Amino acid sequence: MDEIVSLTKRRGFIYPTSDIYGGLANGYDYGPLGVELLRNIKELWWKRFIRTRKDMVGLDSQIILHPKTWEASGHVGSFADAVVEDMVTHKRYRADHLVEDWIKAHDEFKEMIVEELNIEELSAFIQKQKIVSPEGNPVSETKQFDLLMKTHLGSLTGEKDTVYMRGETAQGIFSNFKNVLDSTRVKLPFGIGQIGKSFRNEITLGQYVFRTFEFEQGEIEYFFDPEKENWEELMKGWKDAMWSFVVNDLGIDEKNLRWRRHTDTERSHYSKDTYDLDYHFPFGWKELWGVAYRTDYDLKQQMKFSGVDLRYTDPYTQKKFIPYVIEPAVGINRLLFMTLCDAYHVEKNRTVLTIKPSIAPYSVAVFPLVSNKPELVTLAEKVFDSLSATIHTYWDDRGNIGKRYKYQDEMGTPYCVTIDYESLETHTVTVRERDTMEQSGVKIENLEELISKNTQ
Ligand code: ATP
Repeated sequence: MDEIVSLTKRRGFIYPTSDIYGGLANGYDYGPLGVELLRNIKELWWKRFIRTRKDMVGLDSQIILHPKTWEASGHVGSFADAVVEDMVTHKRYRADHLVEDWIKAHDEFKEMIVEELNIEELSAFIQKQKIVSPEGNPVSETKQFDLLMKTHLGSLTGEKDTVYMRGETAQGIFSNFKNVLDSTRVKLPFGIGQIGKSFRNEITLGQYVFRTFEFEQGEIEYFFDPEKENWEELMKGWKDAMWSFVVNDLGIDEKNLRWRRHTDTERSHYSKDTYDLDYHFPFGWKELWGVAYRTDYDLKQQMKFSGVDLRYTDPYTQKKFIPYVIEPAVGINRLLFMTLCDAYHVEKNRTVLTIKPSIAPYSVAVFPLVSNKPELVTLAEKVFDSLSATIHTYWDDRGNIGKRYKYQDEMGTPYCVTIDYESLETHTVTVRERDTMEQSGVKIENLEELISKNTQ
């Protein structure tokens, strides 16, 4: 984990936010490489789940929605974690995380599923086992801690309205359901997806970008008529699509993935079935992506609180009803973090990120052998200009070629192209492949085809 964190900072994937002020609450910014990887992942998600499906449309709703949205969804009041406070340092910890860590050192409890415990049960367990804080101090009673972040709208002098920074993107989909029905040609079953920032007052941070106050989600609400569709089949279809995205689109090793079904007590009361797709992060198996069958709960609630009819009218039978919904919800930052963890390889003489070429921050790097020979630089610039029109291309003319390869390996760039003296005569360049480190001569005119074919 420390090595991955160090590489991602060193190479410009991820920086601690507000670094010059000593950071802020485990927040992170994405540097020149991170922003490219993040965009590639988001674009692929959008392509796979919105653009290439007849039954999906996209949306981009606001971060700040009408506060009633969150009363309707049940977030106000009950979107909370169970928290304990260290009685000496007054640091707060999530009660479930404290119990999870304690169980790791107590084999006799290893079958216990912490997610099943409610706040009172967690509290009782902590008291009974005399569980202490990570600093070794006694902890307080377990209390509820609101996850929704509050802010205010209105001028300094005028009246202020309390509003919330969205805790999930999903509610913007439900509150726009009627708009989408009225303005498009969709018919059930269909889904609405969106990518955007969400905010949560998380208590336990510190697992790098895995859990932050501010993060991006990719959420889909897939609406259907429960009398016509078999929800178990739809659920299976979404599970397969999620798995395929992670394995085939992001190139993740299947042995680091598993499904975990939520138990009855762990699941929200309105949900009939929920699965987590877990990834084996450096700190253990953790949720990457959840898929929940949420019945008609959310639309019903938004209809009740807004007073607006959110029912769907079947175009053939004119039957009016509230559709049921399946929700696949993922954290984009967790997809990125997983991609980096899975790609991180230390070999005998190098560290390399074997990121799937189609999502790597750069597809190719172009080097003139030396930077003080104008004819080499001119030809290399020509190669750069022709490639960069269609392929994301990096330029480097500093230091020796070995160092440049090392740098590109740590950036995850699949190909390096070197222009040397021979290139001036033969119009042939040296192409070096990241994973095999094999080098071959390629004609400049064949370069674009070769690289785009292998990086799409
Ligand atoms: P967790 O149990 O890890 O807190 P959750 O079950 O609360 O997650 P959901 O509400 O289902 O998460 O949110 C959907 C997805 O959003 C999660 O699968 C995860 O990938 C992502 N996510 C949730 N909270 C965070 C966070 N604080 N930072 C980064 N990603 C997050």
